[in-house]
Amino acid sequence: MSENKTAKELSKQLFYQKKSVYQKKEPSHIEKAYDYAKGYAAFLDAAKTEREAVREAIRLAEYKGFVPYCFGDQVKKGGKYYYNNRGKSLYLFTVGTEPLDMGIHISAAHIDSPRLDLKQCPLYEEGGMSFFKTHYYGGIRKYQWVATPLALHGVVVKKDGSTVEVCVGEDDRDPVFYINDLLPHLGHEADRKPMGEAIPGEKLNVLVGSRPFDNSDEKDMIKLNTMALLNEKYGITEDDFLSAELSVVPAFKARDIGFDRSMIGAYGHDDRVCAYPALSAIFDCADSKHTLLCVLADKEETGSDGNTGMKSDLFLDLIDHLSSVLNADPALVRANSKCLSADVSVAFDPNFPDVFEKRNTPLLSAGVVLTKFTGSRGKSGTNDASAEYIGWLRGIMEDAQVVWQAGELGKVDCGGGGTVAKFLAQHNIETVDLGVPVISMHAPCEVIAKVDLYEAYRAFCAFCLA
Ligand code: MN
Ligand code: MN
Repeated sequence: MSENKTAKELSKQLFYQKKSVYQKKEPSHIEKAYDYAKGYAAFLDAAKTEREAVREAIRLAEYKGFVPYCFGDQVKKGGKYYYNNRGKSLYLFTVGTEPLDMGIHISAAHIDSPRLDLKQCPLYEEGGMSFFKTHYYGGIRKYQWVATPLALHGVVVKKDGSTVEVCVGEDDRDPVFYINDLLPHLGHEADRKPMGEAIPGEKLNVLVGSRPFDNSDEKDMIKLNTMALLNEKYGITEDDFLSAELSVVPAFKARDIGFDRSMIGAYGHDDRVCAYPALSAIFDCADSKHTLLCVLADKEETGSDGNTGMKSDLFLDLIDHLSSVLNADPALVRANSKCLSADVSVAFDPNFPDVFEKRNTPLLSAGVVLTKFTGSRGKSGTNDASAEYIGWLRGIMEDAQVVWQAGELGKVDCGGGGTVAKFLAQHNIETVDLGVPVISMHAPCEVIAKVDLYEAYRAFCAFCLA
């Protein structure tokens, strides 16, 4: 049969061709994608920390009819529930009409992002200024966090158990904070250092004041004034930092990037750019015959440890409890479940072509990325999804005409990374990574393409309904 075809026809038939969403879809589809991105940008601005993401997700979920679930509660088919884990991770689920033994369709994203956490004794004064000491959270390139406006988010828990919410730097009338950098005039020596050593972690001190309490000669008057202002506004004393979780994050809001407004620049795309579409997919597919679960996990950026991370037994406990009230066998439920580990991938960056292998690197605007394996140095520490599972997903995506691409995080032996995929797969659940390609991942301002975000949403919907 091939001899009847031209080489061009045969190439089209036999070769894998990667095309962008713009090449594959009509302008009306692109318009829908840009429209969808507006809700996402609002979510980004409302949810810069995992606590804020949980709160915002619950607000959206309740609007969609989800109700709180507690262990031991009865659940009913067609019901929509959420389990709030300590205000830092969230499990949303809808109970399908088919037996739970048929498995759950799970999407798991994370809602923590790299940032600077305040140390437990953060406040000090030196050189006519007051500062907060920080300990960075997650993988950052430290030089990116200096000389840029910063905001402070988090909670302080007082001895009496009461909690004070802190959010400074987001309202246009708020002050912002700052990390000092060296002037170029005196940076000659520093400029010769490798970039990774230019700003050591202990230099990530946040500038928070310069006015003394009064004109006395007492020691630490600027520190005192800072503390007095905090006491006035929040009723806290220096001891209260000991039981606080305060994070320093970029102060800017999500903005369109480019004359064509085709991209969004924002803090925390990793991994809200997957959390948001996974969330909106469970909202929009709640009538699926399958039981659906959307996990918004904390602590991914520090290894998924802790009781709000994906390694927590809470995930198993939830499946056990649901199995118990729905007369299912939890081992069977897990064996028949399918999971999309929803996390970002990298987008090829022409500014840094050397770290990418271009035949296997995701391209911006070429759709949602399916990542078979992550890990580093010989796939170490990866889930590595089975060909069978990916084959099944290919069919789902094809049927729903989702634009997707396969992708790997950079060249072999160049670096690598991990996601929550392996922590779900270890429970005997078919799992693969799926997410949006990102430019400048983990930078204070990361970039994504709106069309990729929308294809991610469409992929999660296709998976929920498959
Ligand atoms: Mn991530
Ligand atoms: Mn990350």
